[in-house]
Amino acid sequence: MIHTLTLNPAIDRILYLSRFDKNITNRIQKTVDTIGGKGTHVSINLKILGKENTAFGISHGKSGQKVINMLNEYGIEVRFKHYDDGSRETRTNYLIIEDTGDCTIAAERGVTLKTEELNELLEDMKATIQPGDYLIFSGDASNSPDPSVYNKILEMFRDRDLKFFLDTSGKSLKECIRETPYMIKPNLDELSTLAGHPIAEDDASIVEAIESLDSYNVPIIAVSLGGDGSIVKAPEGYYRVHPPKVNVQNTIGCGDCFLSGFVYGLSEGYSIKDTIRIATAVSAATAESKLSAGYDLERAKELKEQVTIEKIK
Ligand code: ATP
Ligand code: MG
Ligand code: MG
Repeated sequence: MIHTLTLNPAIDRILYLSRFDKNITNRIQKTVDTIGGKGTHVSINLKILGKENTAFGISHGKSGQKVINMLNEYGIEVRFKHYDDGSRETRTNYLIIEDTGDCTIAAERGVTLKTEELNELLEDMKATIQPGDYLIFSGDASNSPDPSVYNKILEMFRDRDLKFFLDTSGKSLKECIRETPYMIKPNLDELSTLAGHPIAEDDASIVEAIESLDSYNVPIIAVSLGGDGSIVKAPEGYYRVHPPKVNVQNTIGCGDCFLSGFVYGLSEGYSIKDTIRIATAVSAATAESKLSAGYDLERAKELKEQVTIEKIK
């Protein structure tokens, strides 16, 4: 079974504007509320690929209930701990999308979790997650009272031989890579956090930075480079991946979708190249979709044929 974890879910309120200018009144053309929080996006993207999965998380108040309802609508097994104390509400993020596809986000910090809430969730995870399962941690967990909460959870599962996928940033990425994830998916910023220095945007510098992480023994490191594709280190070697050219609507959630494609391919026993191909295709289809979660599966299948993968090492 595959499990995702979202400690800081959100309602993503998307405001469509033809363009956004500072210091004037901008007219909103349309507003759409969708689900936010990276783990929930991974769950949804997996479900679109036909993969059953469990979504763990913590939610609060009316907007938290809305998050749960949206996950239920996708047919995902929701194991959120939900709290209604009248004062705390799952956050709302505001996403301004312009006709050009440019997107500006104003994100709330989110509810600070209580230690008891986390402990209840951890008990449930302990009871549910089985040896050999896949566990996906997405997002930075900055609303947790304990900044190393991911490490704490992983310590709990050390004896269960889980495949653990990590897509986080900042301190939590630096801490958590020590727990030997099966895969990490840093973008260039996140890779430079790990490497400890800025990284030039050329293939040789990126490969060098990936190699500097060898002592962590992470089998798969997929460095995503937005519209420029990715460089993937796998046990089979290094690959330079070029995505299809698409008509970009908005690139929010591309990283989450790219990771979902990897989880899907690897859990289906696909070769690394076929896994990279599907991950690149679904994330390109996400760039073409106006929403922040979900994409057109038929379009992703077409785009698969236009992905090019070159073994570089
Ligand atoms: P997120 O905002 O979801 O955290 P990220 O910065 O982690 O994003 P990106 O590097 O932006 O992730 O995107 C992940 C993958 O999505 C890329 O490696 C690429 O394959 C695909 N992708 C992103 N943008 C585009 C684009 N404009 N055209 C085609 N594919 C894209
Ligand atoms: Mg990006
Ligand atoms: Mg990302």
